Amino acid sequence: MQVQRVVLNSRPGKNGAPVPENFRLEETTLVPDLKDGEVLVRTLCLSVDPYMRCRMNEDTGVDYVAPWQLSESVDGGGVGVVESSRCSTCSEGGVVTSFNWPWQTYAVMKGSVLQKVNPQLVDGHLSYLLGAVGMTGLTALLGVREKGNVIQGANQTMVVSGAAGACGSIAGQFGRLDGCVRVVGICGSDEKCRALVDDLGFSAAINYRQEDVPTRLKEHCPDGIDVYFDNVGGAISDTVIAQMNKDSHVILCGQISQYNKDVPYPPPLSEEIHETLRRKNITRERFMVLNYMHKAEAALCELSQRVKSGQINVLETVVNGIENMGDAFCSMMKGGNIGKQIIKISE
Ligand code: NDP
Repeated sequence: MQVQRVVLNSRPGKNGAPVPENFRLEETTLVPDLKDGEVLVRTLCLSVDPYMRCRMNEDTGVDYVAPWQLSESVDGGGVGVVESSRCSTCSEGGVVTSFNWPWQTYAVMKGSVLQKVNPQLVDGHLSYLLGAVGMTGLTALLGVREKGNVIQGANQTMVVSGAAGACGSIAGQFGRLDGCVRVVGICGSDEKCRALVDDLGFSAAINYRQEDVPTRLKEHCPDGIDVYFDNVGGAISDTVIAQMNKDSHVILCGQISQYNKDVPYPPPLSEEIHETLRRKNITRERFMVLNYMHKAEAALCELSQRVKSGQINVLETVVNGIENMGDAFCSMMKGGNIGKQIIKISE
């Protein structure tokens, strides 16, 4: 059968923004002669994520993800349906997901790398399995719970950067549900600010491209900042940390403002910020969702229930077609998405 796939066409270099031309769409022939243990899957939707930027480098700089190879299929989070199966655990018509789904319209995969999913978990909204009821939801929920030290009734203020993105939009809502009296989001457009306040229940939102962040933070956080969910790093985070209270907590989730630069992860802080962290006894521990997979099942149940009951609202930016994978990835890296960036491949 003829299938379409996306391969890595070129690398942006360690210092440089990715461009759609770094990816190439190809037609290829897939021979669906399955061996024992294999399944033929049809791709329904795919995820693009910031961590993929390091997979575009020859060396990812981290041991938990491998670089993509030139002219080979790119892969990441995906959801699909089993078309035919020679694997006892995957039945035809079943919905399956994987973190290593090839960017391909159909693929032959080993059944052992696929997780079966019950579509009822997301009321049939299967793309949520890549976002709010998947990796990004887990990152938000477990990040807040493991590193945030949010306590009901403690009158805490939370700030979230990258607040209108996939993780940030869920993290802020958990901050509120878990007891913060004030949750302030920082993001890159007025439209995103409106969504945070009107749709997701944030107390306030700051557009870092238009507004003076230190001044607006002071206005919106009159009692200082107790919890900071950091998705972006760089100057925004330095500004937030400068206004944090004594014995407060940074959830070091990601540092996307630094991903197009040749710096280690996490990127080094200035001596001044180090001194602030020391003087105020602020914790800033690195959070890695992959280290908490033993808690994933229970957390996914909670995410599913919260989403179904409407306690957590989900925002998505959906584009159609495998030919748009590269555009969607580059757009997400520049802030083109509100909520989780999803690419719909087939119905
Ligand atoms: P998002 O949906 O948040 O998309 C990325 C967003 O980052 C963009 O929409 C953009 O929004 C913002 N952004 C891009 N460049 C900059 C910049 N220079 N300064 C400030 N904001 C910027 O992606 P995810 O929710 O998937 O990921 C968010 C963060 O969480 C990332 O840092 C990622 O690496 C991290 N992460 C960490 C995990 C872990 O285990 N620790 C697991 C998963 C994700 P805007 O318009 O606001 O600029």
